[in-house]
Amino acid sequence: MYFIDVILPIPLKQTFTYSVNKDEAAFLKPGMRVAIPFGKSKVYTGIVFQVHDLPPVGYETKSIDHILDETPIITSQQLNHWEWIAKYYMCSLGEVIKAALPSAFLLESETIIKLSSEKESDESSLTDEEFLVFEALQHQSSLHINDVRSILDKKNVVSVIQKLIEKGIVTVEETVYEQYTPKLKRYIKLSQQYTSEENLRELLETLTRAPKQRDVLMNLFMLNSQTKKPISSTELQKKSEASAATLKSLIDKGILEEYFIQHDRVEFSGEASSEIKTLNEAQTKAYEEIKISFAEKDVVLLHGVTSSGKTEIYVRLIEKMIASGKQVLYMLPEIALTTQLISRLQKYFGEKISVYHSKFSVNERVEVWKNVLAEKAKAQIVIGARSSLFLPFKNLGFIIVDEEHEPSFKQYSPSPRYNARDSAIVLANLHNAKLLMGSATPSLESYHNAKTGKFGLVTLKKRFGNVMMPEIELVDIKEKGRKKQMTGHFSDRLLEEMYEVLRNGEQIILFQNRRGFSPVVECTTCGVSPQCPNCDVSLTFHQHKNQLRCHYCGYNMAMMQSCIACGSETLDTKGFGTEQIETELKSLFPNQKIARMDQDTTKGKHSYSKLIDALENEEIDILVGTQMLAKGLDFRNISLVGVMNADNLLNFPDFRAHERSFQLLQQVSGRAGRTKKRGKVLIQTYNPYHQILKQVSVNDYEEMYKEQLEERYNYKYPPFYKTIKIIFKDKNLNRVQKASTWFGQALEMQFKENILGPEPPPIGRIKNKYIINLLIKIPKKQSLDKTKRYIENVQRSFNAIKEFSSVRVNLDVDNY
Ligand code: ADP
Ligand code: ZN
Ligand code: ZN
Repeated sequence: MYFIDVILPIPLKQTFTYSVNKDEAAFLKPGMRVAIPFGKSKVYTGIVFQVHDLPPVGYETKSIDHILDETPIITSQQLNHWEWIAKYYMCSLGEVIKAALPSAFLLESETIIKLSSEKESDESSLTDEEFLVFEALQHQSSLHINDVRSILDKKNVVSVIQKLIEKGIVTVEETVYEQYTPKLKRYIKLSQQYTSEENLRELLETLTRAPKQRDVLMNLFMLNSQTKKPISSTELQKKSEASAATLKSLIDKGILEEYFIQHDRVEFSGEASSEIKTLNEAQTKAYEEIKISFAEKDVVLLHGVTSSGKTEIYVRLIEKMIASGKQVLYMLPEIALTTQLISRLQKYFGEKISVYHSKFSVNERVEVWKNVLAEKAKAQIVIGARSSLFLPFKNLGFIIVDEEHEPSFKQYSPSPRYNARDSAIVLANLHNAKLLMGSATPSLESYHNAKTGKFGLVTLKKRFGNVMMPEIELVDIKEKGRKKQMTGHFSDRLLEEMYEVLRNGEQIILFQNRRGFSPVVECTTCGVSPQCPNCDVSLTFHQHKNQLRCHYCGYNMAMMQSCIACGSETLDTKGFGTEQIETELKSLFPNQKIARMDQDTTKGKHSYSKLIDALENEEIDILVGTQMLAKGLDFRNISLVGVMNADNLLNFPDFRAHERSFQLLQQVSGRAGRTKKRGKVLIQTYNPYHQILKQVSVNDYEEMYKEQLEERYNYKYPPFYKTIKIIFKDKNLNRVQKASTWFGQALEMQFKENILGPEPPPIGRIKNKYIINLLIKIPKKQSLDKTKRYIENVQRSFNAIKEFSSVRVNLDVDNY
């Protein structure tokens, strides 16, 4: 008798045992997939965990349906790493596997398949069974696995579907991230030979008999004198009312030149096209220090101000690493937001780069997975968001965690609630690899680790090219309001600076941390503001659609004429969002091109990239947006950044609010004046004496760090204490209160005053579920393992209480 233990992609902690025959037992290895029956009629794809000959006690084993792989698709190192994640973040290995593997690897009875749109299908390569499925999909847009079972009139169909996926005929349904191929935009300039005044005069004379062509030239000069930006051919054509033929003949004569600005995004094919830059003195010094530091430390933190040239240092280190044949993982907080960086690296490393992101199509992800597993050259460098951590590296030498302070390295929901930065350290360890973290505004934890010697620390204090850090000015809008120096939400100072910048043909970024028109609508007669029926939040007014919307559940309704409570037509708005700023801008600057970047304007597939393109091509003069603007963008022509209101950041009820405000404001400011000229930042606030704003304005990270660290110490927060949050959710408020109280009391018996709560979060109900939190603070000297085991024990008793059976309990380790 032979058996295998299988991990299923479900929240249950144990593995499941199935019987196999002797041949299968000899063939199967950990990390291979098998299709197995589960329950009455379900089929799952499971991962072989181990092969053995010990029959389980107490139940009959079923046999497997199919073996799906010829060799393991998961390495033993991956399994080790995932076991660590499951244990540390208190979830099941199955949940980790579900997060880790592309869904095409994990077919189950619920999976929906449909025809792939990516490829011309080649039916001749199909077996009879495959063809039957293919044919069925011509008549129906999608099929369940159970449908396939009845079509083929057999039970074991997973391998047939697997083959169809491999052949590119079908794909599993999920949101597919399409690749963005930018259009080339055509620009026109005067030929180099005519730029001298003499030649130009001569030229205009020769053109007296071609008035149309002359006209085009005159218009080009005019446009050139009005703006320093590139002139697009459409613009020139429109302005001079010329035909495309006129333009063409000028180009043919060599008088005008056409050129194209193209910005390659995600998609890339071809050779590396740029030389790696020679590092300047400061960078070279940092580079050497990093190497020295790696001799004794596994993790090094590179603390370099915005635009100090960190990326070029990474490039150097990557170059060296891949020359030795090792794999490199470059982790970024959000891929969609960092297309700029991807194209930059592709210029250096060409086809050695693979991009991996959960939003990529299934087939792309499977392909990258297989390339990494086979140690193919084209996946030697992987750039990815947090899920790239799960790829089957075999020979990993180096991990970069860029913008390590970014909260999006943490997955909050669903489980596994892992922090990719911290899990990357464990991954590096398993591979004996080195890990470099980089940030202009390191998280307090990482900086603390560096200061106390756990990590190496390397610092870059100057911007590349000796560009000065932007000059930051705090504007007291309370006083401005009193003196009647505000126009809408703009202080006279901000407007002054904006006019100046626009006169110089430069660009402006305005930051407002809220989207929508105004967060709250309030009746000035009775004080009532419309609430979301499903969540405990006020609805946000979106002027564009004349709607009230909930940002938590998506609920929306038409904006009302009069108050729902008292009927008066005295509805007023409080607070303001990006949309309102945009509206004000349009009336303040009617002749400028204004755009908005927030969740509402970047929903479309490529809308984010398009905005970035437009900004880069200088087709936008003023961009207003939310914190999306803070993500490492590198533009050359932005000389002013305005923060509309810093106060709502600072007042956020979270122990990290001050640290996060500092990081966000520094990062947003960092978008100003990245090349040559010193940039300017204006921060509008009601509270110009706030210590964080002072620290931001003089760029004093150290002072912020010291002060915040002291607070963390006093209030028992990380890095001095570990925290585990327990989140209770239920439709019934009374029940969730009772449940959390019960749980809290059980924990207090052991952990005493180190239990906070139970208390509702700032938003106590979302999507009709009431939420209550407990927080456990764990001092350094208390064993983390034992603490977790205790919690698990309490949870086991809790689960046995019938009254609480509907209450969902989520554990969130390092919940920040
Ligand atoms: P950071 O990652 O620290 O924000 P970047 O690496 O983006 O900084 O560098 C800022 C700008 O300076 C970029 O436009 C980059 O191309 C340029 N730069 C950095 N280092 C060099 C170098 N050694 N030679 C030429 N240009 C550089
Ligand atoms: Zn809601
Ligand atoms: Zn009212």
